[in-house]
Amino acid sequence: MNVLLIGSGGREHALAWKLAQSPLLKTLFCAPGNPGISDVATNVVLDLQNHQAVIDFCRLQNVTLVVVGPEAPLVDGIADSLRAADIAVFGPSQAASQLEGSKGFTKDLCAKYDIPTAAYQRFNNAPKAKAYIRAQGTPIVIKADGLAAGKGVTVAMTMSEAMDAIEDCFEGAFGEAGAEVVVEEYLEGPEVSFFCLCDGKNAVPLTSAQDHKRVGEGDTGPNTGGMGAYSPAPLFDAAMQADVMARIIEPTMRGMAEMGHPFSGVLFCGIMVTKDGPKLIEYNVRFGDPECEVLMLRLESDLLPLLKASAEGDLSDINLKWSDKTALTVVMCAPNYPATPEKGSQIDLEAVAAIKDVTVFHAGTALKDGKLIANGGRVLAVCGSGNTVKEAQNKAYEGVKAVQWPEGFYRSDIGWRAV
Ligand code: ATP
Repeated sequence: MNVLLIGSGGREHALAWKLAQSPLLKTLFCAPGNPGISDVATNVVLDLQNHQAVIDFCRLQNVTLVVVGPEAPLVDGIADSLRAADIAVFGPSQAASQLEGSKGFTKDLCAKYDIPTAAYQRFNNAPKAKAYIRAQGTPIVIKADGLAAGKGVTVAMTMSEAMDAIEDCFEGAFGEAGAEVVVEEYLEGPEVSFFCLCDGKNAVPLTSAQDHKRVGEGDTGPNTGGMGAYSPAPLFDAAMQADVMARIIEPTMRGMAEMGHPFSGVLFCGIMVTKDGPKLIEYNVRFGDPECEVLMLRLESDLLPLLKASAEGDLSDINLKWSDKTALTVVMCAPNYPATPEKGSQIDLEAVAAIKDVTVFHAGTALKDGKLIANGGRVLAVCGSGNTVKEAQNKAYEGVKAVQWPEGFYRSDIGWRAV
């Protein structure tokens, strides 16, 4: 079959790499893709906001499955437009994407279905939000309701940080995304990511991962899109998975269906393991990046039938097999990320390509005069596999050291909590 994958990051390179191994695949297109993806797919330029243009492309190229990588096109309703044109899509509808697109929506769902999460209140003006925060005290968490590329959350340790965060939101620092604010109880504990494949009715557990959001060693400095990840997360054992399925995922699936917004696609559940048990921090409606890279390295089953079954609404017959090995990825970034990354420096991947058990996925790369250059903040995801987190870590850093890109920087402690 012919498949169109939407996106251009390390996540999409990992999905493309895995899809390309499927005996069921005839042609894989990727819009817009990146230079790494072009090794396994045909990159195409499409205006993703023009849904009719995407539909026309699918009809012309006989594409029968569209796989949407990032959240923005989902929140923009691309899955609805494609489904209305009878094209199968891996990814939720616009209404179901509110699980990621509106933090207030998700909190209200948790309240209604008794899903464990931080206590909260929603606000649409600063004075009421400030009065509530003064009454609650700090630490406290302030979140812009909508999508803010991971920057809309402030974990405020002091009252002045909390007040500044409220002002930022209501003064437009996050545009429309901050017109409404969720103020949450501060939770403590290790965080873990858990992924499920969903078909509108049922959720099938995939596996867990742990990411590293802060730019600096030892989890310090500003938040980023993710500096590295590993899978599985040792702390997320079978008992915890069963508990999360029963008290978080299943009520979410039931609630979404009852509201008329059945959820299909991948549900990425951000969990904090508190002393009172696992609590939902956030949902995302797509694979994480860089978590997807390590998941794809561990998935032994054919990815294409899994995504197709989710898109067609029936996961009852799928085959899921995971490697027992650990996969770990280190993200290499352009100088000055996450502020304004410096683009244009040259990268040579020849030496790293020869290393066994090391896989490099491209994120923000481009070709200039036939040479590979940095073209974004997060540029490469260098992955290693091994029997333990330590072995996977050693492999990934062996890969990182073989990447010839003196300007690139990375965290040298990915996996530190588990090692
Ligand atoms: P992402 O970039 O993953 O999409 P986001 O902007 O949607 O993130 P959240 O995941 O809700 O935001 O929060 C970002 C981070 O803030 C969390 O990973 C967690 O470390 C911290 N955080 C969020 N909510 C709380 C809370 N209630 N208590 C303590 N820390 C929290």
